[in-house]
This record gives sequence, C-alpha cells and structure tokens, in this order.
Amino acid sequence: MKRLAILGSTGSIGTQALDVVAAHPELFEVEVLSAHSNAAMLIEQAGKFKPNAVVVTDETKFDTVKSALASLPIKVFKGAEALNDVVQWDSVDMVLGAIVGFAGLHSTLAAIEAGKRVALANKETLVVAGEIVMQKALEKKAHIIPVDSEHSAIFQCLVGEDMEQIEKVILTASGGPFLGRKPNYLVNVKASHALQHPNWTMGAKITIDSATLMNKGLEMIEAKWLFGLKDEQIEVVIHPQSIIHSLVQFKDSSVKAQLGLPDMKLPIQYALSFPRRIGNDFKRFDFKDYAKLTFEQPDYKTFRNLALAIDAMHKAGNAPCVLNAANEVVVHAFLQNKVGFLEMSEMIEKTLERVSYIEHPTLEDYEASDKEARVIAAELAKNSQLSIY
Ligand code: NAD
Ligand code: MG
Repeated sequence: MKRLAILGSTGSIGTQALDVVAAHPELFEVEVLSAHSNAAMLIEQAGKFKPNAVVVTDETKFDTVKSALASLPIKVFKGAEALNDVVQWDSVDMVLGAIVGFAGLHSTLAAIEAGKRVALANKETLVVAGEIVMQKALEKKAHIIPVDSEHSAIFQCLVGEDMEQIEKVILTASGGPFLGRKPNYLVNVKASHALQHPNWTMGAKITIDSATLMNKGLEMIEAKWLFGLKDEQIEVVIHPQSIIHSLVQFKDSSVKAQLGLPDMKLPIQYALSFPRRIGNDFKRFDFKDYAKLTFEQPDYKTFRNLALAIDAMHKAGNAPCVLNAANEVVVHAFLQNKVGFLEMSEMIEKTLERVSYIEHPTLEDYEASDKEARVIAAELAKNSQLSIY
C-alpha cells in the first residue's frame, strides 16, 4: 500500500491521478490532497478519499473548506507553507507534484529534502531550478519519476539500460491546434481557439503552451535535468497523431519508442506504481485505426517560443527561470484575451533581455529572478495593443 500526497488534486493531472487511485484501492491510499482555489472540488474529493489532511493554498477559501469538513477526521491547513510541511510527514510514501507553474517548486523540494519518492508532473520545477532539484534528489536519495508523457516514455525506454549508452532522446510534439499555420493567421487567434487541443485535454496553461510550442521547449529543459543529458542530445520532432510518446536512440544506433493512445492516466499510473506495471481497462491502441503515423520538423520561425526556450536552455543560469516566469505571465494575459498570440514571444524575449543574467543562481536568486521577470512581463502585457483598446 502506497500512501500518497497529491498536490494539485483538483487539476487535470490531479483528478486523473485520483481516478487511478480509485481503480486500485488495494495499492494506493490518499494521505494528503491539496488545491489552490477550487474549494468545492477539494471538499468533494476529501469526502470520497478520506485523506488524513487537505491543504488549501488560497487562504480565502480556508473557512469554506474547514467548515465543510468539520464533521470528518480530516485536518485542514491553509497556505503554501503548509504544503512544505505535509509532504515531509512519515505517513507519506510518495508525493505527486501536480501543481501548475513555479508555485510547485518549493513543495517538490521539500518532498525531496525528506527523501520522498516524487512523481513529478510539475515540469516548471525542473525548468526553473533543475540543477538544484536533481542535486538535492541525489543527495537525499529521493527518486523522481516523470509523469509528463514524453518523459515517462523515455523513462520506460530506459528501464534496464545503461544511461551512458544514450546517444540522444527525441521528444515528440503534436504540434498543437495551429500546426502548419503561419504568423498572418496566428496574429488573430484567441484563447478559446488555442484551448482546443487536437489530442489531449489538459489544464489551461499547458494547453496554451502546447499551442505555442513553449511546452516542448520546457520539456527539452525538463529532459536535460531528469536524464542528465547535454543540450545537443535532445531533439524534437512533430508527430501530430500523438501515438509515439518519445524515443531514445542508443550508441549502437538502436531506437526504442513507447507508444499508446494519448491518455495521461497511463503515465500517471506508471509513475505511481513503478517499478511495477499494473493492469487496467484503458482503451488500447490499434494500428488498424491509424493508417499513418507521420513526422515533420518544427517551424521554429513561426513558433518562436520553442526557439526562445532552446536559447534559454543553452544560456542556462537563470535564463530558463526568467523564460518560465515571463511565459506564465503572458499566458495568463493571453487567456484573458489581453495579449495576442504572437505578442507572447515578443514579451518573453524582451523580459529575457531585461532581467540580469546570473550564471550560477542559488534558490534565492531563482526566486528573485522569477519575481523580477514577472514584473517586467506584466508591464509589457499591460502595454499590449489588446489591453489598451
Ligand atoms: P491544472 O491547471 O488543471 O491544475 C493545477 C492544479 O494546481 C490545481 O489543482 C490547482 O488548484 C493547483 N494550483 C494552481 N495554482 C496553484 C498555486 N499557486 N499554489 C498551489 N496550487 C496551485 O493543471 P494541469 O494541467 O493538471 O497541470 C499540472 C502540472 O502538470 C503542470 O506543471 C503541467 O505542465 C503538468 N502536466 C500536465 C499534463 C496534462 O495533461 N494536464 C501533462 C503533462 C504535464
Ligand atoms: Mg508532455
């Protein structure tokens, strides 16, 4: 029986993780749930899964959650700090990091600090502070198991392999809803359109990141740290059907891939059950349903966020942290139709130019860079044509 702390339990990953838990009550037990502001869903989940504790990070929602759960033996905590505490409890065997954005960094680090196994969906944690996170995980012997489908695919391809034998990894990308589109089209797209991903149903932020290809850039940085790769060992290929979830090429030229229908429940389940595989009733992939699996090169000129992320990865230091913070701000503004689709790249680029570069940042430096980048990006967003009119 594994006792889980599920951080971000009301999100797309969090709810799917709870589906996996519900299907295997003999394997998993929920010890902690956390949500930011969706009090109603958190209350419902707590009633169903009977955790020992819940954390609501948006403090304005605390009273609602506290009073709704008053008759149950469930501890209710508020604020981001509480997350760092609960993940370290002896009663927690494994932490699922499914918070979105920089907000997931500290709780992931706290779990690692306590030597917990972490199933990590929150890629921004590795984008921002991958070196510190992986170093700490090594020191504390805390295993980090990827949940992101591409990294889960790579992880599955690497079971039983010698890491020294990796020549390169190839991350697949669906290309998102605007694959093949050019700037003259993209200039006018709205959030409602960008939110329609062809293959995956996900939280709003990652869905926009998939439409801009920033998601793939973030995933390159995530792969670099997770698997200890050099930048030039990481490639991206567009594969619109999202059946091959990623590939590893070895030094003997052999290429391994992991395939399946696009359904996050599989990588979530694998991360929770690793090293075991467990049976399920998920829909099976059938070659007869797919006449063609196709591949093409990304359009780096049109989808500039991918190029910006690769530059930030090469630049290293605090550059990925700044890129991530600026991206979080402009995506938030885009979701409210306050900045244009193409403007997002311009604003991220300008923010990267304006925040001073730090070659070897400490955790405090990352926090300061994140804050500085957010102020600059927010200012740029405020001056967008769309915000003004
Ligand atoms: P989501 O927006 O659906 O859910 C986010 C969760 O985080 C919610 O439970 C929310 O309450 C919580 N949260 C939001 N802001 C918070 C804050 N400031 N402090 C504490 N908690 C906060 O997001 P998602 O799509 O589930 O994605 C979660 C993470 O998983 C992201 O890092 C994303 O990149 C990654 N991921 C998601 C998918 C997917 O299919 N959804 C796939 C791969 C990776
Ligand atoms: Mg992914």
